[in-house]
Amino acid sequence: MTAAPHPGVRTVILGRQGAGKGTQAQRLAALCLVPHISTGDMLRAAVREGTPLGLKAKEIMEAGDLVPDDVMIGIVDDRLREDDAERGWILDGFPRTVGQAEALGRITTDAPLDLVVDLVVDNEVVIDRISSRRTCDGCQTVYRADDPAIADGTCPKCGGTPRQRDDDQPEAIRRRLEIYERETAPLVDHYRGLGLLEEVDGLGTEDEVFDRLLAAVDHRTGVE
Ligand code: ADP
Repeated sequence: MTAAPHPGVRTVILGRQGAGKGTQAQRLAALCLVPHISTGDMLRAAVREGTPLGLKAKEIMEAGDLVPDDVMIGIVDDRLREDDAERGWILDGFPRTVGQAEALGRITTDAPLDLVVDLVVDNEVVIDRISSRRTCDGCQTVYRADDPAIADGTCPKCGGTPRQRDDDQPEAIRRRLEIYERETAPLVDHYRGLGLLEEVDGLGTEDEVFDRLLAAVDHRTGVE
């Protein structure tokens, strides 16, 4: 498998909650030297900092609901105008509705998407993954609850505390998966229709999935 970077790649990663989007998007962004833009991370940072956006988003996120399209479209539009996004980007968590996908099309007319990856993992697997995931309250690294590295309750990277996200409680997980099926799953067909879709099997080790993801990017960007 090639480890060649793909400078300037513009990619959306779709997938159910717990499919591994965040981890894979971060690795791909590091390899391609482009920013990893996670709307969930941006919203969680706003909640932590208590900004007006954070105050608005907090309860919506805790319930597992979606932040309104106009708010999200504004955030992503601003973010994609920043200097570092000129080189390309990996979008994770956006778009999540057909309205957001259409807006992204308008925002990116000058530098359109190269590909959309659907990271495919079954419902049963993601429910298990989400209920056992712990997120460090310091550096946001995600761990499995039974990871020996956090057996003492401390994040080995920053000394923070790995915790269960408020929206990773069972009721909110169910709600987010329902909303995913209703609002976000239709984007798979939307992007297939535009000829941009690459399906990547999200089962297996992190490295195995990353190799498949790279093969999909290679396929689209013409790197052998
Ligand atoms: P997950 O994929 O596990 O739901 P994310 O970190 O992507 O986690 O998102 C967490 C929450 O942030 C979502 O449940 C939703 O409330 C909000 N959110 C993130 N991105 C969007 C978006 N594009 N549109 C609406 N709400 C969003």
